[in-house]
Amino acid sequence: MKNIWSIRIRASKTVRGLKSKAQRPNTEFAEIHISGAEGLYEKQDIERIVKRYIERALEHPKGKTDKIVITIENIKKRPKVIESLPVSTVSCKTPAEGKSIIKRLLQSTGVSKRSIETAFDIIRKGNMRGASIITAEKGHRLDPDKDRGVRVSRLGATKTALKRLAIGLSRYEINTTTVKEALFLASKVASSTEVIAELCVSDDPDYTTGYVATKKFGYVRIPNIKRGGSRIGGRAFFVEEETRFKEIQDYLEKKPVIIDKVASCAGTFSIDEILGHYYK
Ligand code: AMP
Repeated sequence: MKNIWSIRIRASKTVRGLKSKAQRPNTEFAEIHISGAEGLYEKQDIERIVKRYIERALEHPKGKTDKIVITIENIKKRPKVIESLPVSTVSCKTPAEGKSIIKRLLQSTGVSKRSIETAFDIIRKGNMRGASIITAEKGHRLDPDKDRGVRVSRLGATKTALKRLAIGLSRYEINTTTVKEALFLASKVASSTEVIAELCVSDDPDYTTGYVATKKFGYVRIPNIKRGGSRIGGRAFFVEEETRFKEIQDYLEKKPVIIDKVASCAGTFSIDEILGHYYK
């Protein structure tokens, strides 16, 4: 990829007198996050991508936006080139089963019960614009701005990687923008040395498949992680205990990362099969 541009969009809505943590004390209005998207593209793709992002922001199932902010920026730094995480789906029928699967996957990568509970509490409250950063053992929350967290940005994929991924995901009928964008984000997050695992529950009321992503088990999709119609969602990144917030924030938000290689795409397996690596 030559002459790379970062495109970011954020859509929000202003609401009056809402009792939410998005509302600061003594203010009458609160800004609610509706949707966001980001990617790295070549110059000739800017117009097409901006149009697509705007259409998505205007039609988002989370609600009507009244403010859209777009940032288009030429990237000067050389991007780091990485491989995407392997993709699989765990068989899961209910949110209760999903919770137990999340715990088993996270605990198998060394995330403590306390840290998992911290993440569940944050995701249950919802309405964050980004992800929270939690230490994997003691469960300390490192992100100081509790509404914003950290927003992973400056990530993309080469056209070759996109083509390969489309072939792999199509076999399982999951070649969607949602899956691809989440996989790119998870792959950048997992490529940082400090991150041990990620948990994601979409805040889109129509999208009930979440995931746990780790270097060890890859990107594991978890269907029925929440009930349909629920607007509750969020992301948590579990990091090494000694992680310095500024460093991890800098990597996730600023370092350009491009996916150039695609790992395996597999089908649906039981949690025991996933934990035993039988799917690879
Ligand atoms: P989504 O998967 O887009 O429904 O997002 C689910 C949650 O993940 C959102 O509520 C945000 O808290 C968080 N999130 C969305 N985009 C990002 C991002 N680029 N970086 C970090 N967290 C994000």
